[in-house]
Amino acid sequence: MLATVWRIAEMNALLSVDHARVNVKECVLYTTLEPCALCVGAIRMLGMKDMRYAARDPAAGGLGLLDATDFMRRGGVHAEHLGCLELEAALIAMHTSALLSIHPGNPAIEPWAAAGLAGVELGRKLSASGELRRMADGSGASIAQAIDALTRLNGQVEEEQAPSLPASGAATPSPMVLLLIGAPASGKSTLGRRLATALGMPYLSKDLFKETLFDTLGWDDRGWSQQLGSASMALLFRSAAALLKAGQPVTLDSTFYPQLHEPQLRALGERYSCQFVQIVCTAPGPTLVERFERRALSGERHPGHADAASLDEFRSRLLTERWDALDLGGSVLTVDTSSGELDIEGLASSIRQLSKATR
Ligand SMILES: [Zn+2]
Repeated sequence: MLATVWRIAEMNALLSVDHARVNVKECVLYTTLEPCALCVGAIRMLGMKDMRYAARDPAAGGLGLLDATDFMRRGGVHAEHLGCLELEAALIAMHTSALLSIHPGNPAIEPWAAAGLAGVELGRKLSASGELRRMADGSGASIAQAIDALTRLNGQVEEEQAPSLPASGAATPSPMVLLLIGAPASGKSTLGRRLATALGMPYLSKDLFKETLFDTLGWDDRGWSQQLGSASMALLFRSAAALLKAGQPVTLDSTFYPQLHEPQLRALGERYSCQFVQIVCTAPGPTLVERFERRALSGERHPGHADAASLDEFRSRLLTERWDALDLGGSVLTVDTSSGELDIEGLASSIRQLSKATR
């Protein structure tokens, strides 16, 4: 019904279910693109528990909302990326090509390009070549011919984008990605900065990007802070990719959320065959709350974060949620940041050992 106005496939699927006979709470919803805000709302309101999506949507994807309010979190909706990067790239290519067919240079593809997702370049090529359009316009091309055209164009893109290979005989470099994992105020930044210095590694932090954006664009309320937060994550991943492409290791500091960031990290891992080392920072819930409140109210934190406006929400999240290692493979070290002075040298040498062992 609504499809006449909006293209909302998930809503249409949910509307077409005979709810008298099918219990959607026991169903798994599969979608191509990450669902939009409207569909995420519908999924939650229907009490669905499980969904899989093939491609992220940095422009209109609404999965972040699952975590946005108490009500949404209570739904416990599990959303999982299918993890097939080829499929994701093909879907993004088709989406990019469709956007460009609406008008050339469509600014709607900017968020896709900025997120560094594979498939955008292929989409541009597809659109420029006009091959899909010609096939659709009536030559009666088969699916096999369409797949063939896609594969050929994709080969060209990969050749252009492939990182230069090491000289033959040289060991394949597998740069280390050191990830600081943990709740807000768990001590990630303090530890991350000191470890990166001790290891002689570049240190990238979402908050540093975000504060730079606040200083150049200004700050306002929590909504603006969240918008710049997404931009900062995109910058973090872009910068990390640039370093890894050059064979450099990198330290990444952010509050990572599994459903949002695991797919992006896995994609980096595959593309640059890097090795992950995760440092999980822990502290008891009440300590986290105390630090978060002090930080929010003391003025030691950039005012743009608007932490004071979210004290109540974070108080309950810090006490109840788990902030575990991500499912990425590689090594995991856990550091309790509440118990006295940290042994930076000891940790750094453990990390060096791990890095050698997995090389
Ligand atoms: Zn939708």
